[in-house]
Amino acid sequence: MTIVLGAIADDFTGATDLANNLVRGGMRCVQVIGVPDSLPDLSDVDAVVVALKSRSCASEEAIADSVAALDWLRELGARQIFFKYCSTFDSTDQGNIGPVADALLDHLGAVQTIMVPAFPINGRTVYQGHLFVGDRLLNDSGMQHHPLTPMTDADLVRVLARQTPHTVGLINRAVLTQGPEATRQRLADLKADEVRHVICDSVDESDLETLAGATVDLPLVTGGSGLGQALPAQYRHKGWLADISKPGRLEPASGSALVLSGSCSRATLAQVDDFLTRSPEGGFAIDPLALSRDNTHWQDAHDFALSRIEQNAPVLIYASADPEKVKTAQAKLGVAKAGHLVEQALSQLAVSLVDKGVGRLLVAGGETSGAVVSALGITALRIGEQIDPGVPWTQAQLEGHAAPLSLALKSGNFGGVDFFTRAFEVLP
Ligand code: ADP
Repeated sequence: MTIVLGAIADDFTGATDLANNLVRGGMRCVQVIGVPDSLPDLSDVDAVVVALKSRSCASEEAIADSVAALDWLRELGARQIFFKYCSTFDSTDQGNIGPVADALLDHLGAVQTIMVPAFPINGRTVYQGHLFVGDRLLNDSGMQHHPLTPMTDADLVRVLARQTPHTVGLINRAVLTQGPEATRQRLADLKADEVRHVICDSVDESDLETLAGATVDLPLVTGGSGLGQALPAQYRHKGWLADISKPGRLEPASGSALVLSGSCSRATLAQVDDFLTRSPEGGFAIDPLALSRDNTHWQDAHDFALSRIEQNAPVLIYASADPEKVKTAQAKLGVAKAGHLVEQALSQLAVSLVDKGVGRLLVAGGETSGAVVSALGITALRIGEQIDPGVPWTQAQLEGHAAPLSLALKSGNFGGVDFFTRAFEVLP
């Protein structure tokens, strides 16, 4: 058994986002949580995405985890490696995008890679090296308020240059419109000038197709999930993929529904509001300051959720709050402790409530999803059909449970406003 693509994602929802697009491109895909101790069943799998929690940790740890994933994926025979990060380039001046890309290149013995964060269908585009979210520059998109990786500069060449000692260059749209051959030539010219990291413009799908065509033979590509949807066609063209009509088939879902939200991103805040408008009795707000005092607050949230579940009624437990409230909690507790308290509370709710019959679980927030998935002891997810761009339903087999747990892991800014309701309507 050999796989075609091996991907390393810097957070859980980012991994799922990429896996979703690979399925949409026609690849059968499994997402693993970290490098697994034992080999999952990969007999009918074209792509494996390793989900790490390396976006916000120390860069030494991010490098070690990413290189371990790389070694494992190469053992599986991966023909190309994909380093996946957020379409909003979530990082700080310390990393981890630059340091990880440098380490992966070194281990592969390669000297150049591309950086393609764009995801046009979700409004993330790059023009002249500047990242836009919808019609706003990155630093004016809400991302400047992110609790862990505030993005205050939209110029990606400048952002990445602060994270790597190597040269950062740009392929702009004027080159892409000339097609894959011209793009490949431009990459070669930049390589001759020792440009190691190449930020790439992309404003629509055709730019991503051009980039996929130009880079299918690179050992390492990096970017968001948009590039992931363009690559499978290139692999098929090379004869590396079988034709599968339904690469995202899952087993029928069962069990109660629960939504947990630890994301404070703009889209999530709107989704929380929409849910509360539809189910005014269905929401319970978690407050990190109350969590820091004693266990009463958590127990209240738990009992609330359980009673809603027993009535088969929609239920949302959320720590999601506007930037002001988040800042107040962070000022009193510290950024890390506030985040940790919330992640811990939501993941322990997941563990207890899945045990009590939740079989369909929606989690909002990248870090939050990571915490929930690891608390549940999940090591591999089969990727199913998409709910909204970037978010598929997935299934995991939990020990001691006959039926698989259906899980939707939503990155902060993803999903339509009615996502917390509609996700359950589209699940077979
Ligand atoms: P997103 O995908 O929107 O970035 P994440 O879950 O990755 O969401 O990150 C949000 C972070 O903010 C998490 O660490 C979470 O625990 C933390 N957080 C959530 N709610 C609050 C709050 N009310 N106060 C402080 N931090 C919070």
